[in-house]
Amino acid sequence: MLALYVAKPNELELRRLETVRSPQGDEVKIKLIYGGICGSDLGVLKGKLPHANYPVRAGHELVGVIIEKGEQAAYDIGTRVVVLPNTYCGACDLCQKGLTNICRHKQSLGINTDGGFSQEFIISSKYVLPVPDDLSDEKAVLVEPFAVVVHALSKARIEPTMRVAVVGCGNEGMMAAVLARHFGADVTAVDVNPLKLETVKAMADIRTLAPDALSGETFDVVIEAAGAREAVEQAAELVAPGGHLVLIGLANEATFPVVRLVRNEVTVHGSIIYRFPDDYWQAIHYLRTMPHPIERVISRIFPVCDYEQAYELASSGNAGKVVLRFKEEEER
Ligand SMILES: [Zn+2]
Ligand SMILES: [Zn+2]
Repeated sequence: MLALYVAKPNELELRRLETVRSPQGDEVKIKLIYGGICGSDLGVLKGKLPHANYPVRAGHELVGVIIEKGEQAAYDIGTRVVVLPNTYCGACDLCQKGLTNICRHKQSLGINTDGGFSQEFIISSKYVLPVPDDLSDEKAVLVEPFAVVVHALSKARIEPTMRVAVVGCGNEGMMAAVLARHFGADVTAVDVNPLKLETVKAMADIRTLAPDALSGETFDVVIEAAGAREAVEQAAELVAPGGHLVLIGLANEATFPVVRLVRNEVTVHGSIIYRFPDDYWQAIHYLRTMPHPIERVISRIFPVCDYEQAYELASSGNAGKVVLRFKEEEER
């Protein structure tokens, strides 16, 4: 069985392991179909995440099938599921308020606890959710990153005809632009990379611009998804009076035009991951019903044995989502 580890910063390792133990209690054993490579997977590999633990099995965007279950597991063998890759304790003050996404004892798969880039792995059934049969594997592997977007957009209550700008067209930015368009907003997507803008345009009727092409325009809602200082600062300038700025990128620092934000009564939201299962259910709902071909955000699917090429493409800055295929992969 193949499993992909980050042994230490800058060292990916495809390990060949014996089969996994049997699941116990509420656990299930999952046979992985696809795993999506995320910006945070690249961050762990590059040694950029201070809370990462090494060695760690990579991966948290996961769709697979339950092949074995413990006696108290919530779902049956054969169920296709996606995984919640951020644990929560259910007992801390934040969990008690329903804020499980910022649980004080949260652990993140593939970062500070073993992830799911493994042909088989075991997880508590508390952290899996079945996906409907009519949701393709390609859309199902997007449920986790798309749930981030669903959660972020819920902060700003986007309505038809609202003017929305998305600054930064990484995978989350692209999906945010498409979802805002699906909500009926008039959407402008901003990125320096023309390839990303082309990809957004291929998914929905969205206006696309380079950052320096915006002059004096303002928007009811601005989503910052680039995670860079300049992008955050530009996003803050783009919000119309009474508007909302939603920050999902992880820039370390930026300078805010405080007087402008105060005088214009702009609401600033930070948004991190999602509430489980609600945002997952919503994400699944939109992925099933949106007419937009959102799976085009996936640039390429590589067999897991080609993990080096896959990580290289993912970190090139010239790709959308890169996915690893684990099913039907023989060891070479
Ligand atoms: Zn992710
Ligand atoms: Zn908690």
